[in-house]
Amino acid sequence: MRFTKMALVATCAVLGLLASIAIVPTEPIAATAGRLVLIQGFPTAATPGGDDIPAERRAEVEQAVREYVRDVGWYRPDPGPVLRNGNSAVPGRYSFYPMAGRLGRDIFHRNFVDLDPRPNSLQDFNCTTYTYDGHLGYDTTVRSFAEKDVGVPVYAALNGLVIRTDDGHYDENGGVGAPSTMANYVVIDHGNQQVAYYWHLKNGSVVVQAGDEVVAGQQIGQTASSGFSNWPHLHFETHVAGAVIEPSSGGCNPGESGWTDPIRVVSSLYLDDFGFRDSGMPGDPMKRLPWGMESTGHLTLKDPVAYFWFQVKSMPASAPWRAVFRRPNGSVAYEESGAFSTPFNRGSWWMFGFDVADMHEITGTWEMEFYLGGRKMGVFPVEVVQRRAQKVNRPPKPVKVRLWPKRPRAGEVLSCHVTADLLLDDPDYDVVIFRYEWTVNGEVVRKINSAAHSDVLRADALRRGDRVRCAVTPSDGVDSAPTKARGRRVK
Ligand SMILES: [Zn+2]
Repeated sequence: MRFTKMALVATCAVLGLLASIAIVPTEPIAATAGRLVLIQGFPTAATPGGDDIPAERRAEVEQAVREYVRDVGWYRPDPGPVLRNGNSAVPGRYSFYPMAGRLGRDIFHRNFVDLDPRPNSLQDFNCTTYTYDGHLGYDTTVRSFAEKDVGVPVYAALNGLVIRTDDGHYDENGGVGAPSTMANYVVIDHGNQQVAYYWHLKNGSVVVQAGDEVVAGQQIGQTASSGFSNWPHLHFETHVAGAVIEPSSGGCNPGESGWTDPIRVVSSLYLDDFGFRDSGMPGDPMKRLPWGMESTGHLTLKDPVAYFWFQVKSMPASAPWRAVFRRPNGSVAYEESGAFSTPFNRGSWWMFGFDVADMHEITGTWEMEFYLGGRKMGVFPVEVVQRRAQKVNRPPKPVKVRLWPKRPRAGEVLSCHVTADLLLDDPDYDVVIFRYEWTVNGEVVRKINSAAHSDVLRADALRRGDRVRCAVTPSDGVDSAPTKARGRRVK
């Protein structure tokens, strides 16, 4: 209403301002319908700038590949049908993305290969700029370190032989500071001189070692932020005959795609995470940022100031915003609007503080409608209760489950997709843990807790005539939603 503060770099002074408003109201609550203050904002980047595999790590891996070829030779040296893509060949076509999650939903392709060799010039395969200068792979982010903690699997993209791995390194590089160059990673020979790098993995998550034969869809590690990184993400890089290639085809990389299902560049505006809080951000916000803020679905009449935060993708320049607070009876108690003063950004995180007079008087289910760029981003319920003791945990919302492809085939990777709301998946805005249980002919073959909205079954798990089933149980760590399952006969 009166003051709109925004900073792309956090200032404790701004936090302090709101805290002091909270403790010493400058006007009686009855005299004002409320107030809403934009407290902080940050860009959510995946890499701190520069090649996210530093030169010395690349040199080590390249040396390991040379020694491997000398000692072991290429895995499956007979060239299969070779696809032409740009100026390069992709012998092995990828049939699925090698990280759990659904693209453009809980996971996001932040950067592709930079196909413009000139310094300070950017071009991805799609003739847009979803890359950064000199980037050599795909950076695919998860929403927060909270999801990293639950676990987001990384899989072998194709059959192959493991060339080199590293593990045991710190995996929570984020915000500001100097990220380590030591990453947890896996490098795999996928045959026909095609090598893939899987980088920035979670400490202790690497479950394969050099010399292991792997199968497409087999879990090899989990996503995190080890090495030169400031957000949990997978860096997935493809080399053919010693050269980096971009497997996707498009206007700026003509030819056949190296993907069975071509990868989309997601450039639409959407919120991918949201929560209410009854206190501001603890500790150094820049260090806390990728954590995903602990949130609540309850406020009490006595909370002097409450907060909401969100993550947004593809936010337009100078985007207008509007927040409407509705009482339990649906009437508007307070409304506020403003505009961000940022240029277009691919990903950012924001926190607002609010003090709505009637939220200190009226208990029940309140709703906050939030608009961004002229579009409704969501309607977010919050329970206002008398006392803290009335806050009760509620289980996550039920989900839908489906298998992809719809007709599973022997020898192919099978995905299990969960459809859950990114923002309202849990009424208390908790991080949801999905328990996937895969059975083949009634026998459990894979069981995993994951934060991701998909999981896959490795390509050698299914034979013709098998009955395959994926069952998913969402949990907030305390209470669970009903298990949903999908089963099919394998062709
Ligand atoms: Zn990268």
